[in-house]
Amino acid sequence: MNLYHAIAKADPASPCIVDATGAVLFTYGDMFRESARMAAKLGHLDLAKGDRVAVQVEKSPEAMVLYLACLRRGLIYLPLNTAYGEHELAHFVSDAEPALIVCDPAGRDTFAGLAGGHVLTLDAEGNGDLMEALGAVPADEPVVDCADDDVASILYPSGTTGKPKGAMITHGNLISNGETLRESWGFTGSDVLLHGLPIFHVHGLFVAANLAMLTGATMIYLPGFNTAEVISLLPRATVYMGVPTHYTRMLGESSLDRDACANMRLFTSGSAPLLPATFAAWSERTGHTILERYGMTETGMNTSNPLEGERKPGTVGPPLPGVEARILDDAGNTVGLDEPGALEVRGPNVFSGYWRLPDKTAEEFTDDGFFRTGDVASLDADGYVSIIGRNKDLVITGGLNVYPVEIESMIDRMAGVLESAVIGVPHPDFGEAVTAVVVREGAQDVSERDVITWLKDNLANFKVAKRVHFVDALPRNTMGKVQKNVLRDRFGDV
Ligand code: AMP
Repeated sequence: MNLYHAIAKADPASPCIVDATGAVLFTYGDMFRESARMAAKLGHLDLAKGDRVAVQVEKSPEAMVLYLACLRRGLIYLPLNTAYGEHELAHFVSDAEPALIVCDPAGRDTFAGLAGGHVLTLDAEGNGDLMEALGAVPADEPVVDCADDDVASILYPSGTTGKPKGAMITHGNLISNGETLRESWGFTGSDVLLHGLPIFHVHGLFVAANLAMLTGATMIYLPGFNTAEVISLLPRATVYMGVPTHYTRMLGESSLDRDACANMRLFTSGSAPLLPATFAAWSERTGHTILERYGMTETGMNTSNPLEGERKPGTVGPPLPGVEARILDDAGNTVGLDEPGALEVRGPNVFSGYWRLPDKTAEEFTDDGFFRTGDVASLDADGYVSIIGRNKDLVITGGLNVYPVEIESMIDRMAGVLESAVIGVPHPDFGEAVTAVVVREGAQDVSERDVITWLKDNLANFKVAKRVHFVDALPRNTMGKVQKNVLRDRFGDV
């Protein structure tokens, strides 16, 4: 089924997108009508089912209409991070060969130089030549039939090594994952989702916006995340979906309190690990426990702490219904409880493969159809998964495996430390040496020697950092992930 058909079940009279003042910008009926017009306009460009539409635009309601228009026509929607520059864009354009590019007016020249196809513009206010004369186009464009395994979207995950690969996500993937989350998180048409995430990433587009639209819920649609604004709007919302940095920033504001959260029923966190300390501080300040879940571009959501029942800090909960997960050692055997291993998943949520890379796709799937996530994880006695980190971030020092998260959480427990990141850097003797990068809390006086002594007192010797560097803040991307490659470039020498 075309994902659009599932979304089209929403009540046309219900508000879909409202702004921060409460004004209704688009009802569902408006979304259906405007996306039909836009789909008709795209038809005039001779775009055929399966053609790619690359979109690098600011977050506007019209960008969401464009997404729906692509679904309607069976076009493959390819959102691009607004931070990408010409060098990265050249790769995406040559790899995906989009038949249409929609970009901010400021990017038109860049794309015109790269593209073989059409280039149209859409700016942050929802204006541009994509919108021109749209009002005169009839809104009766039929919805193109799509099978469950037809590709709805291609996303290029940011965390991969080498040249980014396009993950092909099907209509079936998005419908099934949306349905599963609707059930698991108790979403209904009366929910009001405060949407402060970017819409070029799986979290903001598929987890947040798709789920809201699949249930006919309302989105308070913010152009970006602004701490004070988000807190001030919580009383009008019922659900917030954030990355961990959103939660730590909100905790830094005195306006965050129980009153501000009285109308909320659910806070979710994902895309990066939520520190147990943040989970505890949030619960103490607001009375709400954050529901942490785990997923990735290639798979959508795999696991989630429960809506009802215990939400365990430091875990991402059990696999979602319909999703199978297993954790294996290097020999391919299931690891014991609480033992780290490679996490593999299988289910209707898992993507169909990497765009035009059948060999790479085959490598990432096992013979029995599990996808190798590249994450190291463990499973506890209650069936809750904990994410230990990316496989490639594992440090191998003197032949011994060191999981950065174990050292990071030990350092984070030190008085005077706000947070830390651990990386491996090349070392002539050990292969890799454990190196810690630490952010001090305020003006606290913590030295390299203090950190090393603390680690020696608390962990096995091979896990103790050889060097400790101090920075004002850890480099993070827009999804709150610590950019360890940046740290490796900067602190690569022992
Ligand atoms: P992306 O494809 O950009 O969404 O990145 C997916 C990766 O983010 C996963 O493979 C994990 O390494 C990481 N990730 C997502 N959610 C969590 C979480 N709740 N805890 C720890 N890591 C996470």
